Amino acid sequence: MKSYRKELWVNVPSRRAFINITPQVEESLRESNIKEGIALVNAMHITASVFINDDESGLHSDFDKWLEKLAPHEPVSHYRHNNGEDNADAHLKRQIMGREVVVAVTNGKLDFGPWEQIFYGEFDGRRKKRVLVKIIGE
Ligand code: ZN
Repeated sequence: MKSYRKELWVNVPSRRAFINITPQVEESLRESNIKEGIALVNAMHITASVFINDDESGLHSDFDKWLEKLAPHEPVSHYRHNNGEDNADAHLKRQIMGREVVVAVTNGKLDFGPWEQIFYGEFDGRRKKRVLVKIIGE
């Protein structure tokens, strides 16, 4: 069995953003030379997510609005975690959007369903963060 590991770096200039990282994961898969197996992609930070959904800007703005309704950033003092920090909402947003995705690898390709793409969800940006790609198989 072959095993491949890579860290992708992200630096989002805003507090929140959704970034399509499918091309970087596909590039990792090519580098791995693995044709049949499993790819794991996870955020390495507890205020960011990796999830699969549609690459459609209306949907992304709906996600943002929905998450702000569930866990508004302001007022910062509303959260007990914000004791010298201001990112409690980011921890909650990450929890609901998920830590990682697992995608089947078939014939050297990510075996997606229709419209599936991999996104990095940033909820406390303006600093460098990492995403782990781990691929195992033959
Ligand atoms: Zn925190």
